[in-house]
Amino acid sequence: MTNLTKFEEVNESFTLAEAIQEAQRCLECKAPMCQRACPIENEIPSWIRELKKGNLGNAISIIRQKSNLPSICGRVCAHERQCEGACVLGRQGNAIRVGKLERFVADFDAEARLTHDNIPEHTRGRVAVIGSGPSGLTVAGDLSHMGFAVEIFEAEPHCGGVLRYGIPEYRLPKEVVAREVHHIQAMGVAIHRECSVGSGKSIDDLFSDGFDAIFIGTGLSHPNTLDIEGGNSKDVVWALHFLTKYQLFREGLADENEINVSKGHRVYVIGGGNTAIDAARTAVRLGARVEILYRKTAEQMPALKSEYEEAVSEGVGFRWMTNLKAVHCDSNGEMTDILVESQDLENGALKELTLSADRVILAIGSSPSTRLVRASNGVESDKGGYIITRESPYGMTSRKGVFAGGDVANRQSTVVHAMRDAKQVAVGIAKYIDAIKLVESL
Ligand SMILES: Cc1cc2nc3c(=O)[nH]c(=O)nc-3n(C[C@H](O)[C@H](O)[C@H](O)COP(=O)(O)OP(=O)(O)OC[C@H]3O[C@@H](n4cnc5c(N)ncnc54)[C@H](O)[C@@H]3O)c2cc1C
Repeated sequence: MTNLTKFEEVNESFTLAEAIQEAQRCLECKAPMCQRACPIENEIPSWIRELKKGNLGNAISIIRQKSNLPSICGRVCAHERQCEGACVLGRQGNAIRVGKLERFVADFDAEARLTHDNIPEHTRGRVAVIGSGPSGLTVAGDLSHMGFAVEIFEAEPHCGGVLRYGIPEYRLPKEVVAREVHHIQAMGVAIHRECSVGSGKSIDDLFSDGFDAIFIGTGLSHPNTLDIEGGNSKDVVWALHFLTKYQLFREGLADENEINVSKGHRVYVIGGGNTAIDAARTAVRLGARVEILYRKTAEQMPALKSEYEEAVSEGVGFRWMTNLKAVHCDSNGEMTDILVESQDLENGALKELTLSADRVILAIGSSPSTRLVRASNGVESDKGGYIITRESPYGMTSRKGVFAGGDVANRQSTVVHAMRDAKQVAVGIAKYIDAIKLVESL
Protein backbone atom coordinates (compact mmCIF):
# COMPACT_ATOMS: atom_id res chain seq x y z
CA MET A 1 0.00 0.00 0.00
CA THR A 2 1.27 3.52 -0.81
CA ASN A 3 2.20 5.96 1.95
CA LEU A 4 -1.17 7.55 2.53
CA THR A 5 -0.07 9.99 5.18
CA LYS A 6 0.92 12.14 2.21
CA PHE A 7 -1.62 14.03 0.14
CA GLU A 8 0.92 15.03 -2.48
CA GLU A 9 0.65 14.03 -6.13
CA VAL A 10 0.89 10.25 -6.46
CA ASN A 11 2.03 9.88 -10.08
CA GLU A 12 5.59 10.93 -10.81
CA SER A 13 6.68 12.98 -13.80
CA PHE A 14 9.18 11.99 -16.52
CA THR A 15 12.74 13.35 -16.43
CA LEU A 16 13.87 15.14 -19.63
CA ALA A 17 15.84 12.06 -20.76
CA GLU A 18 12.87 9.74 -20.08
CA ALA A 19 10.49 12.08 -21.93
CA ILE A 20 12.69 12.22 -25.04
CA GLN A 21 13.18 8.44 -24.95
CA GLU A 22 9.41 7.93 -24.68
CA ALA A 23 8.78 10.40 -27.53
CA GLN A 24 11.27 8.51 -29.72
CA ARG A 25 9.02 5.45 -29.62
CA CYS A 26 6.29 7.37 -31.51
CA LEU A 27 5.77 5.94 -35.00
CA GLU A 28 4.47 9.26 -36.41
CA CYS A 29 1.51 7.53 -38.06
CA LYS A 30 0.28 9.14 -41.29
CA ALA A 31 -3.31 9.00 -40.01
CA PRO A 32 -2.73 9.59 -36.30
CA MET A 33 -5.45 7.82 -34.34
CA CYS A 34 -4.31 9.49 -31.10
CA GLN A 35 -5.16 12.92 -32.49
CA ARG A 36 -8.54 11.74 -33.78
CA ALA A 37 -9.35 10.26 -30.38
CA CYS A 38 -8.64 13.56 -28.60
CA PRO A 39 -11.87 15.59 -28.21
CA ILE A 40 -9.96 18.84 -28.92
CA GLU A 41 -7.82 17.25 -31.66
CA ASN A 42 -4.57 18.06 -29.94
CA GLU A 43 -1.88 17.72 -32.64
CA ILE A 44 -0.10 14.99 -30.71
CA PRO A 45 2.31 13.61 -33.35
CA SER A 46 3.48 17.14 -34.28
CA TRP A 47 4.50 18.13 -30.77
CA ILE A 48 5.92 14.69 -30.01
CA ARG A 49 8.12 15.12 -33.12
CA GLU A 50 9.46 18.40 -31.67
CA LEU A 51 9.98 16.77 -28.28
CA LYS A 52 12.00 13.97 -29.91
CA LYS A 53 14.42 16.63 -31.17
CA GLY A 54 14.50 18.36 -27.77
CA ASN A 55 12.60 21.42 -29.13
CA LEU A 56 10.40 21.89 -26.07
CA GLY A 57 9.48 25.48 -26.95
CA ASN A 58 8.03 24.35 -30.28
CA ALA A 59 6.29 21.44 -28.59
CA ILE A 60 4.44 23.62 -26.07
CA SER A 61 3.56 26.20 -28.74
CA ILE A 62 1.84 23.45 -30.77
CA ILE A 63 0.01 22.13 -27.70
CA ARG A 64 -1.18 25.59 -26.70
CA GLN A 65 -2.71 26.21 -30.14
CA LYS A 66 -5.44 23.76 -29.12
CA SER A 67 -5.42 23.77 -25.31
CA ASN A 68 -5.42 26.43 -22.61
CA LEU A 69 -4.97 23.79 -19.90
CA PRO A 70 -2.20 21.36 -20.95
CA SER A 71 -0.72 20.64 -17.53
CA ILE A 72 -4.24 19.81 -16.33
CA CYS A 73 -5.23 17.63 -19.32
CA GLY A 74 -1.85 15.87 -19.01
CA ARG A 75 -2.89 14.81 -15.51
CA VAL A 76 -6.64 14.20 -15.43
CA CYS A 77 -7.83 13.31 -18.94
CA ALA A 78 -9.03 9.76 -19.53
CA HIS A 79 -5.96 9.02 -21.70
CA GLU A 80 -6.52 5.27 -21.66
CA ARG A 81 -9.92 5.84 -23.33
CA GLN A 82 -8.74 8.62 -25.69
CA CYS A 83 -5.26 9.28 -27.16
CA GLU A 84 -3.44 6.39 -25.50
CA GLY A 85 -6.37 4.03 -26.07
CA ALA A 86 -6.14 4.75 -29.81
CA CYS A 87 -2.31 4.54 -30.14
CA VAL A 88 -1.36 1.71 -32.51
CA LEU A 89 1.41 0.63 -30.14
CA GLY A 90 -1.34 -0.06 -27.60
CA ARG A 91 -2.15 -3.24 -29.55
CA GLN A 92 1.05 -4.68 -28.10
CA GLY A 93 0.14 -3.18 -24.71
CA ASN A 94 2.75 -0.44 -25.03
CA ALA A 95 0.94 2.77 -26.03
CA ILE A 96 2.89 6.04 -25.99
CA ARG A 97 2.33 7.73 -22.61
CA VAL A 98 0.82 10.84 -24.23
CA GLY A 99 -0.68 12.23 -21.01
CA LYS A 100 2.56 12.00 -19.09
CA LEU A 101 4.44 13.58 -22.03
CA GLU A 102 1.97 16.47 -22.24
CA ARG A 103 2.28 17.02 -18.51
CA PHE A 104 6.08 16.97 -18.81
CA VAL A 105 6.18 19.52 -21.64
CA ALA A 106 3.70 21.88 -19.90
CA ASP A 107 5.49 21.63 -16.53
CA PHE A 108 8.89 22.17 -18.19
CA ASP A 109 7.56 25.26 -19.95
CA ALA A 110 6.15 26.63 -16.69
CA GLU A 111 9.56 26.35 -15.04
CA ALA A 112 11.79 27.35 -17.92
CA ARG A 113 9.36 29.93 -19.44
CA LEU A 114 10.17 28.81 -22.97
CA THR A 115 7.41 30.71 -24.71
CA HIS A 116 5.77 34.10 -24.65
CA ASP A 117 2.25 34.60 -25.97
CA ASN A 118 1.64 37.18 -28.62
CA ILE A 119 -1.25 39.04 -27.07
CA PRO A 120 -3.47 40.70 -29.66
CA GLU A 121 -5.19 43.99 -29.01
CA HIS A 122 -8.56 43.37 -27.38
CA THR A 123 -10.67 45.57 -29.59
CA ARG A 124 -13.20 43.16 -31.17
CA GLY A 125 -15.74 43.36 -28.32
CA ARG A 126 -16.31 42.66 -24.62
CA VAL A 127 -17.31 39.31 -23.15
CA ALA A 128 -18.29 38.43 -19.54
CA VAL A 129 -17.61 34.82 -18.53
CA ILE A 130 -19.54 33.48 -15.52
CA GLY A 131 -17.63 30.63 -13.86
CA SER A 132 -13.95 29.69 -14.11
CA GLY A 133 -14.05 25.92 -14.51
CA PRO A 134 -12.51 24.29 -17.61
CA SER A 135 -15.31 25.69 -19.81
CA GLY A 136 -15.05 29.28 -18.55
CA LEU A 137 -11.24 29.28 -18.70
CA THR A 138 -11.30 27.86 -22.23
CA VAL A 139 -13.82 30.40 -23.53
CA ALA A 140 -11.82 33.19 -21.88
CA GLY A 141 -8.46 32.00 -23.27
CA ASP A 142 -9.73 31.40 -26.81
CA LEU A 143 -11.64 34.70 -27.03
CA SER A 144 -8.67 36.62 -25.66
CA HIS A 145 -6.49 35.07 -28.39
CA MET A 146 -9.11 36.15 -30.95
CA GLY A 147 -8.91 39.79 -29.84
CA PHE A 148 -11.82 40.13 -27.39
CA ALA A 149 -11.62 41.81 -23.98
CA VAL A 150 -12.72 39.16 -21.47
CA GLU A 151 -13.64 39.39 -17.79
CA ILE A 152 -14.34 36.31 -15.65
CA PHE A 153 -16.81 36.44 -12.73
CA GLU A 154 -16.18 33.59 -10.28
CA ALA A 155 -18.25 32.92 -7.15
CA GLU A 156 -15.44 31.25 -5.19
CA PRO A 157 -12.22 32.80 -3.83
CA HIS A 158 -10.13 30.71 -6.28
CA CYS A 159 -10.58 29.89 -9.96
CA GLY A 160 -10.76 26.43 -11.51
CA GLY A 161 -14.19 25.04 -10.54
CA VAL A 162 -14.00 21.27 -10.05
CA LEU A 163 -10.28 21.43 -10.89
CA ARG A 164 -9.78 23.58 -7.78
CA TYR A 165 -12.37 22.25 -5.33
CA GLY A 166 -13.31 18.74 -6.56
CA ILE A 167 -10.36 16.78 -7.95
CA PRO A 168 -8.05 16.06 -4.98
CA GLU A 169 -4.53 17.45 -4.63
CA TYR A 170 -2.91 14.01 -4.98
CA ARG A 171 -4.18 13.83 -8.59
CA LEU A 172 -4.05 17.51 -9.47
CA PRO A 173 -1.92 19.86 -7.34
CA LYS A 174 -3.64 23.20 -6.82
CA GLU A 175 -0.49 25.11 -7.76
CA VAL A 176 -0.82 23.56 -11.24
CA VAL A 177 -4.39 24.91 -11.53
CA ALA A 178 -3.25 28.34 -10.27
CA ARG A 179 -0.46 28.32 -12.88
CA GLU A 180 -2.85 27.74 -15.78
CA VAL A 181 -5.23 30.41 -14.43
CA HIS A 182 -2.28 32.81 -14.19
CA HIS A 183 -1.38 32.04 -17.81
CA ILE A 184 -4.89 33.03 -18.90
CA GLN A 185 -4.68 36.21 -16.81
CA ALA A 186 -1.35 37.01 -18.43
CA MET A 187 -3.17 37.01 -21.77
CA GLY A 188 -5.11 40.03 -20.50
CA VAL A 189 -8.19 38.30 -19.05
CA ALA A 190 -9.50 40.12 -15.94
CA ILE A 191 -10.81 38.01 -13.06
CA HIS A 192 -13.37 39.06 -10.43
CA ARG A 193 -13.28 36.51 -7.61
CA GLU A 194 -15.99 36.02 -4.97
CA CYS A 195 -18.48 37.51 -7.39
CA SER A 196 -21.55 35.29 -7.73
CA VAL A 197 -23.70 36.35 -10.67
CA GLY A 198 -27.40 35.92 -9.99
CA SER A 199 -27.30 36.69 -6.29
CA GLY A 200 -25.49 40.07 -6.50
CA LYS A 201 -24.81 41.20 -10.04
CA SER A 202 -27.32 40.00 -12.63
CA ILE A 203 -27.05 39.26 -16.34
CA ASP A 204 -28.95 42.51 -16.99
CA ASP A 205 -26.31 44.38 -14.95
CA LEU A 206 -23.55 42.83 -17.08
CA PHE A 207 -25.24 44.01 -20.30
CA SER A 208 -25.71 47.47 -18.71
CA ASP A 209 -21.95 47.42 -17.94
CA GLY A 210 -21.36 47.25 -21.69
CA PHE A 211 -20.59 43.59 -22.34
CA ASP A 212 -21.51 42.47 -25.85
CA ALA A 213 -22.01 38.82 -24.89
CA ILE A 214 -22.14 36.69 -21.76
CA PHE A 215 -21.00 33.08 -21.31
CA ILE A 216 -22.49 30.91 -18.54
CA GLY A 217 -20.17 28.04 -17.51
CA THR A 218 -21.42 27.44 -14.00
CA GLY A 219 -21.17 23.63 -13.94
CA LEU A 220 -23.15 21.33 -11.66
CA SER A 221 -23.33 22.21 -8.00
CA HIS A 222 -26.63 20.65 -6.94
CA PRO A 223 -25.94 17.08 -5.73
CA ASN A 224 -28.42 14.32 -6.53
CA THR A 225 -29.88 12.61 -3.47
CA LEU A 226 -31.35 9.17 -2.66
CA ASP A 227 -34.98 8.99 -1.60
CA ILE A 228 -34.54 6.30 1.08
CA GLU A 229 -35.21 5.88 4.80
CA GLY A 230 -32.59 7.94 6.69
CA GLY A 231 -31.36 9.56 3.46
CA ASN A 232 -31.45 13.00 5.11
CA SER A 233 -29.33 11.96 8.09
CA LYS A 234 -26.58 14.46 8.97
CA ASP A 235 -24.05 11.63 8.48
CA VAL A 236 -25.02 11.21 4.83
CA VAL A 237 -22.71 13.64 3.02
CA TRP A 238 -22.38 14.67 -0.62
CA ALA A 239 -19.11 13.77 -2.27
CA LEU A 240 -18.47 17.16 -3.86
CA HIS A 241 -19.19 18.94 -0.55
CA PHE A 242 -16.88 16.52 1.27
CA LEU A 243 -14.07 17.04 -1.28
CA THR A 244 -14.56 20.83 -1.25
CA LYS A 245 -14.54 21.02 2.57
CA TYR A 246 -11.44 18.89 2.65
CA GLN A 247 -9.66 21.20 0.20
CA LEU A 248 -10.79 24.31 2.14
CA PHE A 249 -9.52 22.71 5.37
CA ARG A 250 -6.13 22.13 3.75
CA GLU A 251 -6.04 25.81 2.87
CA GLY A 252 -6.97 26.85 6.43
CA LEU A 253 -10.39 28.07 5.31
CA ALA A 254 -12.52 25.41 7.08
CA ASP A 255 -12.35 23.63 10.46
CA GLU A 256 -11.32 19.97 10.59
CA ASN A 257 -14.73 18.96 12.02
CA GLU A 258 -16.44 20.38 8.91
CA ILE A 259 -14.84 17.61 6.82
CA ASN A 260 -17.24 15.14 8.43
CA VAL A 261 -14.99 12.06 8.02
CA SER A 262 -12.21 11.14 10.41
CA LYS A 263 -9.85 8.40 11.52
CA GLY A 264 -11.51 5.05 12.23
CA HIS A 265 -14.85 5.92 10.61
CA ARG A 266 -16.52 3.15 8.62
CA VAL A 267 -17.39 4.94 5.40
CA TYR A 268 -19.52 3.71 2.49
CA VAL A 269 -19.29 5.63 -0.78
CA ILE A 270 -22.24 5.21 -3.15
CA GLY A 271 -21.42 5.47 -6.88
CA GLY A 272 -18.95 4.23 -9.47
CA GLY A 273 -17.53 7.30 -11.23
CA ASN A 274 -14.53 9.61 -10.80
CA THR A 275 -16.19 11.40 -7.92
CA ALA A 276 -16.82 8.18 -5.97
CA ILE A 277 -13.20 7.09 -6.36
CA ASP A 278 -11.88 10.55 -5.39
CA ALA A 279 -14.11 10.65 -2.30
CA ALA A 280 -13.09 7.12 -1.27
CA ARG A 281 -9.35 7.73 -1.71
CA THR A 282 -9.59 11.00 0.21
CA ALA A 283 -11.48 9.30 3.05
CA VAL A 284 -8.79 6.58 3.18
CA ARG A 285 -6.17 9.33 3.50
CA LEU A 286 -8.12 10.67 6.48
CA GLY A 287 -7.77 7.27 8.18
CA ALA A 288 -11.27 5.90 7.46
CA ARG A 289 -12.13 2.30 6.48
CA VAL A 290 -13.79 2.71 3.11
CA GLU A 291 -15.92 0.60 0.79
CA ILE A 292 -17.51 1.67 -2.47
CA LEU A 293 -21.01 0.29 -3.13
CA TYR A 294 -21.82 0.21 -6.83
CA ARG A 295 -25.16 -0.88 -8.28
CA LYS A 296 -23.63 -2.54 -11.37
CA THR A 297 -20.58 -4.72 -12.14
CA ALA A 298 -16.87 -3.80 -12.16
CA GLU A 299 -16.89 -3.77 -15.97
CA GLN A 300 -19.80 -1.31 -16.05
CA MET A 301 -18.19 1.16 -13.65
CA PRO A 302 -17.58 4.53 -15.36
CA ALA A 303 -14.37 5.23 -13.40
CA LEU A 304 -11.09 4.50 -15.20
CA LYS A 305 -9.49 1.09 -14.66
CA SER A 306 -6.26 2.77 -13.57
CA GLU A 307 -8.08 4.76 -10.90
CA TYR A 308 -9.90 1.64 -9.71
CA GLU A 309 -6.57 -0.18 -9.41
CA GLU A 310 -4.98 2.71 -7.52
CA ALA A 311 -7.97 2.82 -5.14
CA VAL A 312 -7.69 -0.94 -4.50
CA SER A 313 -3.94 -0.63 -3.86
CA GLU A 314 -4.68 2.10 -1.30
CA GLY A 315 -7.11 -0.14 0.61
CA VAL A 316 -10.54 0.88 -0.79
CA GLY A 317 -12.96 -2.08 -0.84
CA PHE A 318 -15.62 -2.59 -3.53
CA ARG A 319 -19.04 -4.30 -3.46
CA TRP A 320 -20.63 -4.76 -6.88
CA MET A 321 -24.34 -5.06 -7.73
CA THR A 322 -25.18 -3.43 -4.42
CA ASN A 323 -27.83 -0.82 -3.64
CA LEU A 324 -28.24 1.25 -0.50
CA LYS A 325 -31.75 0.67 0.87
CA ALA A 326 -31.79 2.50 4.24
CA VAL A 327 -29.65 4.42 6.73
CA HIS A 328 -30.27 3.80 10.43
CA CYS A 329 -29.40 6.25 13.22
CA ASP A 330 -29.60 6.20 17.03
CA SER A 331 -31.78 8.55 19.11
CA ASN A 332 -29.09 11.27 18.84
CA GLY A 333 -29.20 11.11 15.06
CA GLU A 334 -25.77 9.39 14.83
CA MET A 335 -25.49 6.80 12.06
CA THR A 336 -25.27 3.23 13.35
CA ASP A 337 -25.65 1.01 10.27
CA ILE A 338 -26.93 0.78 6.74
CA LEU A 339 -29.15 -1.74 4.98
CA VAL A 340 -27.97 -2.80 1.53
CA GLU A 341 -29.29 -5.18 -1.10
CA SER A 342 -26.77 -7.16 -3.15
CA GLN A 343 -27.35 -9.33 -6.18
CA ASP A 344 -25.35 -12.53 -6.53
CA LEU A 345 -23.25 -12.31 -9.72
CA GLU A 346 -23.61 -16.04 -10.40
CA ASN A 347 -27.29 -16.81 -9.85
CA GLY A 348 -28.89 -13.34 -9.66
CA ALA A 349 -30.32 -13.99 -6.17
CA LEU A 350 -30.95 -10.89 -4.05
CA LYS A 351 -29.92 -10.73 -0.42
CA GLU A 352 -30.18 -7.99 2.20
CA LEU A 353 -27.29 -7.17 4.52
CA THR A 354 -26.84 -4.82 7.47
CA LEU A 355 -23.42 -3.16 7.68
CA SER A 356 -22.11 -1.13 10.64
CA ALA A 357 -21.48 2.39 9.38
CA ASP A 358 -20.52 5.90 10.52
CA ARG A 359 -20.78 7.82 7.27
CA VAL A 360 -22.29 7.47 3.81
CA ILE A 361 -20.86 9.60 1.01
CA LEU A 362 -23.17 10.03 -1.99
CA ALA A 363 -21.43 10.27 -5.35
CA ILE A 364 -24.44 9.69 -7.61
CA GLY A 365 -24.15 12.75 -9.84
CA SER A 366 -25.07 16.41 -9.68
CA SER A 367 -27.27 18.80 -11.60
CA PRO A 368 -27.15 22.57 -12.20
CA SER A 369 -28.12 25.05 -9.53
CA THR A 370 -31.19 26.87 -10.85
CA ARG A 371 -30.50 30.20 -9.08
CA LEU A 372 -28.76 31.96 -11.96
CA VAL A 373 -31.33 30.86 -14.55
CA ARG A 374 -34.21 31.90 -12.26
CA ALA A 375 -32.61 35.32 -11.85
CA SER A 376 -32.00 35.73 -15.60
CA ASN A 377 -34.90 36.77 -17.81
CA GLY A 378 -35.24 34.78 -20.99
CA VAL A 379 -32.65 32.02 -20.35
CA GLU A 380 -34.48 28.71 -20.61
CA SER A 381 -33.51 25.38 -19.10
CA ASP A 382 -34.88 21.85 -19.46
CA LYS A 383 -36.61 19.79 -16.74
CA GLY A 384 -33.25 18.76 -15.27
CA GLY A 385 -32.14 22.40 -14.99
CA TYR A 386 -29.65 22.16 -17.89
CA ILE A 387 -29.48 25.35 -19.95
CA ILE A 388 -30.86 24.93 -23.48
CA THR A 389 -28.51 26.12 -26.22
CA ARG A 390 -28.66 26.19 -30.02
CA GLU A 391 -26.40 25.13 -32.85
CA SER A 392 -26.14 28.53 -34.55
CA PRO A 393 -24.55 30.66 -33.32
CA TYR A 394 -23.18 27.71 -31.42
CA GLY A 395 -23.99 27.77 -27.69
CA MET A 396 -26.44 30.71 -27.67
CA THR A 397 -29.29 30.32 -25.17
CA SER A 398 -32.89 31.43 -25.69
CA ARG A 399 -31.73 34.93 -24.72
CA LYS A 400 -29.86 36.92 -27.37
CA GLY A 401 -26.19 37.43 -26.51
CA VAL A 402 -26.22 34.95 -23.62
CA PHE A 403 -24.31 31.73 -24.28
CA ALA A 404 -23.76 28.61 -22.16
CA GLY A 405 -21.45 25.61 -22.27
CA GLY A 406 -19.64 22.90 -20.35
CA ASP A 407 -21.52 20.72 -17.85
CA VAL A 408 -24.33 23.26 -17.22
CA ALA A 409 -25.49 22.76 -20.81
CA ASN A 410 -24.26 19.27 -21.61
CA ARG A 411 -24.64 17.23 -18.41
CA GLN A 412 -21.78 15.84 -16.36
CA SER A 413 -18.89 15.17 -18.62
CA THR A 414 -15.12 15.42 -18.50
CA VAL A 415 -12.63 18.27 -18.45
CA VAL A 416 -11.68 17.87 -22.10
CA HIS A 417 -15.30 17.53 -23.26
CA ALA A 418 -16.19 20.74 -21.38
CA MET A 419 -13.21 22.34 -23.14
CA ARG A 420 -14.28 21.06 -26.56
CA ASP A 421 -17.75 22.48 -26.11
CA ALA A 422 -16.34 25.78 -24.82
CA LYS A 423 -14.04 26.10 -27.86
CA GLN A 424 -17.05 25.83 -30.16
CA VAL A 425 -18.99 28.33 -28.04
CA ALA A 426 -16.05 30.78 -28.25
CA VAL A 427 -16.34 30.62 -32.06
CA GLY A 428 -20.13 31.13 -31.75
CA ILE A 429 -19.64 34.19 -29.52
CA ALA A 430 -17.04 35.68 -31.91
CA LYS A 431 -19.40 35.27 -34.88
CA TYR A 432 -22.29 36.79 -32.91
CA ILE A 433 -20.34 39.86 -31.77
CA ASP A 434 -18.79 40.44 -35.21
CA ALA A 435 -22.31 40.33 -36.70
CA ILE A 436 -23.86 42.79 -34.22
CA LYS A 437 -20.91 45.18 -34.58
CA LEU A 438 -21.28 45.03 -38.37
CA VAL A 439 -24.99 45.81 -38.16
CA GLU A 440 -24.32 48.67 -35.70
CA SER A 441 -21.77 50.18 -38.08
CA LEU A 442 -24.17 50.30 -41.04
C1 LIG B 1 -14.88 14.99 -7.92
C2 LIG B 1 -14.80 15.08 -9.41
C3 LIG B 1 -13.73 14.51 -10.06
C4 LIG B 1 -13.63 14.61 -11.45
N1 LIG B 1 -12.53 14.06 -12.06
C5 LIG B 1 -12.37 14.22 -13.39
C6 LIG B 1 -11.21 13.72 -14.04
O1 LIG B 1 -10.32 13.11 -13.42
N2 LIG B 1 -11.08 13.92 -15.38
C7 LIG B 1 -12.02 14.58 -16.10
O2 LIG B 1 -11.83 14.77 -17.31
N3 LIG B 1 -13.15 15.04 -15.53
C8 LIG B 1 -13.35 14.90 -14.19
N4 LIG B 1 -14.48 15.37 -13.59
C9 LIG B 1 -15.49 16.09 -14.41
C10 LIG B 1 -15.02 17.52 -14.73
O3 LIG B 1 -14.34 18.08 -13.63
C11 LIG B 1 -16.18 18.42 -15.16
O4 LIG B 1 -16.79 17.82 -16.28
C12 LIG B 1 -15.70 19.83 -15.51
O5 LIG B 1 -15.07 20.45 -14.40
C13 LIG B 1 -16.87 20.72 -15.97
O6 LIG B 1 -16.38 22.01 -16.21
P1 LIG B 1 -17.34 23.30 -16.15
O7 LIG B 1 -16.48 24.48 -16.50
O8 LIG B 1 -18.55 23.07 -16.96
O9 LIG B 1 -17.85 23.41 -14.63
P2 LIG B 1 -17.10 23.49 -13.22
O10 LIG B 1 -15.78 22.87 -13.23
O11 LIG B 1 -18.11 22.96 -12.25
O12 LIG B 1 -16.94 25.05 -12.96
C14 LIG B 1 -18.04 25.91 -12.73
C15 LIG B 1 -17.54 27.19 -12.07
O13 LIG B 1 -18.62 28.15 -12.04
C16 LIG B 1 -18.62 28.80 -10.77
N5 LIG B 1 -19.98 29.32 -10.53
C17 LIG B 1 -21.12 28.60 -10.35
N6 LIG B 1 -22.17 29.43 -10.22
C18 LIG B 1 -21.70 30.70 -10.33
C19 LIG B 1 -22.30 31.99 -10.30
N7 LIG B 1 -23.62 32.13 -10.13
N8 LIG B 1 -21.51 33.08 -10.45
C20 LIG B 1 -20.17 32.95 -10.65
N9 LIG B 1 -19.54 31.74 -10.68
C21 LIG B 1 -20.29 30.64 -10.54
C22 LIG B 1 -18.21 27.70 -9.82
O14 LIG B 1 -17.76 28.24 -8.59
C23 LIG B 1 -17.10 27.01 -10.63
O15 LIG B 1 -15.86 27.64 -10.43
C24 LIG B 1 -14.63 15.27 -12.20
C25 LIG B 1 -15.74 15.82 -11.55
C26 LIG B 1 -15.83 15.73 -10.18
C27 LIG B 1 -17.03 16.33 -9.48
